[in-house]
Amino acid sequence: MVIPLAERYRDRLPFTDATPVVSLGEGSTPLLPAPRLSRRLGVELWLKWEAANPTGSFKDRGMTVAVSKAVEEGAQAIVCASTGNTASSAAAYAARAGIPAVILQPKGAVASAKLAQTRMYGARILELRGTFDEALEAARELAAVGTHSLVNSLNPHRREGQKTAVFEIVDELGGAPDAVYLPYGGGGNTTAYGQAFLELDGRPSRLVAAEAIDRAGTLASAIRISEPVHAASVQEALERTGGHVVTLSDDEILAAWHDLAASEGLFCELCSAAGLAALAKEPPEPGATVVCVITGHGLKDPESAGWLAPPPVVVDPDPEAIAEAAS
Ligand SMILES: *Cc1c(COP(=O)(O)O)cnc(C)c1O
Repeated sequence: MVIPLAERYRDRLPFTDATPVVSLGEGSTPLLPAPRLSRRLGVELWLKWEAANPTGSFKDRGMTVAVSKAVEEGAQAIVCASTGNTASSAAAYAARAGIPAVILQPKGAVASAKLAQTRMYGARILELRGTFDEALEAARELAAVGTHSLVNSLNPHRREGQKTAVFEIVDELGGAPDAVYLPYGGGGNTTAYGQAFLELDGRPSRLVAAEAIDRAGTLASAIRISEPVHAASVQEALERTGGHVVTLSDDEILAAWHDLAASEGLFCELCSAAGLAALAKEPPEPGATVVCVITGHGLKDPESAGWLAPPPVVVDPDPEAIAEAAS
């Protein structure tokens, strides 16, 4: 059984004896070697497969803490704005806790499978005629009334939980890698990683935050956020660790996304390949130990595979025709 991160890292999380831990077995995700990409890029590359979390993205690491604390503090319901994954995660943990979740999402901008998850968990989904940034503002206003606890990454408990990915990486490698590359949407995760390194002894990894050049219109919908709410703390984390931002075109993200599936057998959602795209675009010193954080599962957005991957070939049940088509 997976040890929930609430137990694995209990002493580093804001839990008390009174906290009713709401868990779905999140964390302890695989750190996979990437031999082919390592050879090609001239680095020792590891892939942190965050798609292995219960709802298919790293958001669960923060949500277990945020929802547990919300219940402890007597919240009657939770609310969030989302491009999809925060919604799925919030809805799942709310169901687990037995409280309602209200989701505010930009209309038409959420991948189909993320919406399917959120609906199945029974959340109240409101599609806003507006952008993610407007949805976040609306969620903050609803939370300010006092009836709903906000579980976006503005909630500090979310970032506490998300730090545990760094603890796992450092535990497993026996020290901090030279660099950690991750996608940069609102910047909550980059901020959490920066905080985690502050709490660990020794040299931190350089944090490299990979963002879309067209923040408002990128195909990578999970990082389609015009105004990163954590921009200042991201900047601080990058400066403190000697890292930087890499700005990517959609073509660069698409190429890395396809590569990850075809070269290493990992099908992630598009934005999750941004770290790898940044690594390919601005490689570190040869031989560096590097972790790319693969933030969410490809099955969350299956339609997007049609943009790049070849379609199946139709054949008759005839051995010769099959042998010919297979070669
Ligand atoms: C939320 C999310 C991101 C972006 O994280 P931020 O904390 O907003 O920077 C990246 N990838 C996936 C799959 C996400 O769900």
